[in-house]
Amino acid sequence: MELSEDIMYQASVDRDASFEGMFYVAVKTTRIFCRPTCRARKPKRENVEFLKTIHEAQNKGYRACKVCRPLELLNATPPLIHDLLEELNANSDLKLKDEDLRSRGIAPHALRRWFLKHHGLTFQAFQRKRLLNQAFKTIQNGAAVSDAAWGTGYESLSGFSDSFKSTFGVSPSNSKGKTILDLKRFETLLGVMWAVASPQGICLLSFAEQSALETQLSNLAAAHDAKLLHGENPHFDQLIEQVNAYLAGKNREIKVALDFHYQALEHYLHGATMLIPYGYSIDWSDFCTKIPIQSKPEQLQELLSNNCFGLLMPIHRIRNWDDGLEEMLKRRNHFLRELEQKHAT
Ligand SMILES: [Zn+2]
Repeated sequence: MELSEDIMYQASVDRDASFEGMFYVAVKTTRIFCRPTCRARKPKRENVEFLKTIHEAQNKGYRACKVCRPLELLNATPPLIHDLLEELNANSDLKLKDEDLRSRGIAPHALRRWFLKHHGLTFQAFQRKRLLNQAFKTIQNGAAVSDAAWGTGYESLSGFSDSFKSTFGVSPSNSKGKTILDLKRFETLLGVMWAVASPQGICLLSFAEQSALETQLSNLAAAHDAKLLHGENPHFDQLIEQVNAYLAGKNREIKVALDFHYQALEHYLHGATMLIPYGYSIDWSDFCTKIPIQSKPEQLQELLSNNCFGLLMPIHRIRNWDDGLEEMLKRRNHFLRELEQKHAT
């Protein structure tokens, strides 16, 4: 799945976001370079060259396009919203009204639109989920329901209890045996990712445009018998930092705690994948011989393609297992192999 110039030119004409981070389009006539999804009019094929990194483009004297801003991460959270999210993270019971947003220079309508597009819900709904998530954890840690309700912005305890019950399916006082999984969106060099974490560790890492994401999320909630809710988790900061360092070629391993509910076969599959060193790859037929229990290759293939750990389980180090997968996933596996080979020496 080599990225040929034909493929790259077509991807830039299609503004295909799944090529994000894999190449840049440099325009020889204007000396400007763009990301593949740039909205600006596409130059003629003979006037462009394709470069693999920002560094390469800058070394050749190209300047970053002001329309697509290739130096920033794609769909990066705008600075004002970024600061707002940081503020919410630092003050878990903070609840912001429209006038609070305006005083921070943020138009409530624009914020609503941005949240709908990038998080799939309005900012107010996002805030409510965050606060319920926080209240749930406070109760799990032994606080009284009335104390947990305090600060969530509900006008009455019954209002809080109703909302709690419609989210978690149980009343606050009966929630001790329930579990919550935290959900977070973040940006990387290869595009937006979603992560899910429990108190024990990361349960899922996936690219936003991956078609299986919705199914993976609902399977995960069912496997953990848990409710998925936007919220912070102590494992996220480390994950985000390490994923971006890995994609920049600065670290070889993404060290985070994982939380998995595995059957024996999945367990061996995970173990065998993790044993392939950074920068190396192994052919599918050789890989299958490393699994110590009886299994069919099709069964292993299915488990690999449904695995929830994304970059945390380096399945891209296995060659020739992914023929039946979507082009986008094959391309990404190939890209990661090349990235590791480049930085391994
Ligand atoms: Zn551009």
